Amino acid sequence: MIIGLLVNRTKRRQGEAEATLVADISSKFVNLPSGEVDREIMAAQRRICELLGLDFSTLWQWSDGAPGFFTLTHFYSARDGPQPPERMNQDQYPWARQQMLAGRIIKVSSLDELPIEAACDRETLRQFGIKSNLAIPLAVGGGQALGLLGLGTMQAERDWPDALVKRLQVVAQIFANALARKHADQALRESEERMTLAAEAAEFGVWAWSITRNEVWGSERWLRLFGFVAGETVNFHKILERIHPDDRATVEREVRHALVSGIDYAGEFRAVLPDGSQHWIASRGRGYPDANGTPTRMLGAARDSSERRLAEMETRELRGHLAHADRVTLLGQLASALAHELSQPLGAILRNAEAAEMILQTPAPDLDELRAIVTDILSDDQRAGHVIERLRSLLKRRSLDPQPINLQAVIAEVLALVHADAAARQVKLAFAATPALHMVLGDRVHLQQVLLNLLVNAMDALDACNPDQRSIQVVAHRTDVATVEVRVSDNGPGLPGDSPERWFEPFFTTKPNGMGMGLPVSRTIIEAHQGKLWAEHGPQGGACFCFTVPVVGGEVDN
Ligand code: ADP
Repeated sequence: MIIGLLVNRTKRRQGEAEATLVADISSKFVNLPSGEVDREIMAAQRRICELLGLDFSTLWQWSDGAPGFFTLTHFYSARDGPQPPERMNQDQYPWARQQMLAGRIIKVSSLDELPIEAACDRETLRQFGIKSNLAIPLAVGGGQALGLLGLGTMQAERDWPDALVKRLQVVAQIFANALARKHADQALRESEERMTLAAEAAEFGVWAWSITRNEVWGSERWLRLFGFVAGETVNFHKILERIHPDDRATVEREVRHALVSGIDYAGEFRAVLPDGSQHWIASRGRGYPDANGTPTRMLGAARDSSERRLAEMETRELRGHLAHADRVTLLGQLASALAHELSQPLGAILRNAEAAEMILQTPAPDLDELRAIVTDILSDDQRAGHVIERLRSLLKRRSLDPQPINLQAVIAEVLALVHADAAARQVKLAFAATPALHMVLGDRVHLQQVLLNLLVNAMDALDACNPDQRSIQVVAHRTDVATVEVRVSDNGPGLPGDSPERWFEPFFTTKPNGMGMGLPVSRTIIEAHQGKLWAEHGPQGGACFCFTVPVVGGEVDN
């Protein structure tokens, strides 16, 4: 009985010591930085072996990087001797591998206990001189095992009582959690590094704003963008202070809106640095809410966009100038047409005035006749006024103002304008439109400019042809419910062998006095109308320029 009591007491003591060890290990791993996980695992392995009188403890992991292998990552041995290999082919433990993947513990007090299916495993264990062995799978949250914790003896066989196994399972769980956290940290660090690298390559600065702590972390490049020095503590308020006063409220409003709405922030603003210099910054960011939906973090990237801004402004300005210059050139070419247009009403006015003068010289002037003459003079004067008004609106530099317009009337007006010029150049003009074209949404003056351009180009191209063969056809028709297409085709030399897209490049011209801006400007105008402008082979063998404009409303009243 005494012996029995003594054995019981020893067992109890051992149990208590084991429980203390587990509690101890567990407390060590609470909030353990991932850099210390490996060291603490190995220290725990040593303490377990010492307390239980084991010869070794191994921790094997498997990874996608080395499929088919167990990799020894943590090891403790109580005695000197050969270390197990760093990598072990899983084929050497086929049965154990199955058990581990199924999440089962392997408890071997004596190698003879192993089932027949484990013959290969037994042989391997024997080769390593292992007498008894306990292997516990390492898994997190019921997922697939990421490795196993092995414990064993080489001197003598031993038992693995259930109570002990349960405690060691707790330890294995602690290890598994710590390793999973370490892997996740590592993956996060790697992905952060990759992101920073990519951002650097794209000349982006990255930033992370902890809203709860009101702290902004930024990469070096980002800090430089706002004129902050490395290591400076930055918060949202400090950033706002570096933003141009005119842009500040917008940025603040847009960022807050992004956080509330969950939509990404994307903005461009001017930064004013402490030395007074200014530049543009384009920034994007995404808010990350906590479990309650409250945004706690925002991550993003920013870059210096001054160059692009400047280029954009220059292009816009240049385009304005060119479009203007282009209109002036066109008007030069159209001078004769306009003179012709004006000469008609002016001639009529003159003739009417002469007639009136003659009537007035008669003894009893016919007042009704005189009244009719004055009405004619007034209407002719209005006609002349309209011609001049058209001229003026063509010359004026103005922005696009799309209105519902009658495209057929616009085409007719332009054809009237070029009529005299065409006649002088012996070019036949023909116009055909589907009887009821819909109103289109467009800017009259800009569309006139496009048409003029295409017609003048076609006439220029026809200079190369025999005078009796020069003809231009303008056709307008609906292609679908939403679009009207206008086609200007000539029977000139036509498209070049290579891509006609070249014609649309700015400054491409084959004319001695050409500017090469007509087509690019026309295309810009049509695209601003949500339409397309392109060139194709014409039905008469020459070139055909086509453009589309969107339809609005109902049919035109004829
Ligand atoms: P420009 O008229 O000042 O040369 P454009 O941009 O209007 O500038 O035209 C570019 C070039 O496209 C012209 O120089 C000409 O070579 C070619 N081109 C345009 N329209 C036609 C056409 N209808 N037939 C043949 N070539 C054309």
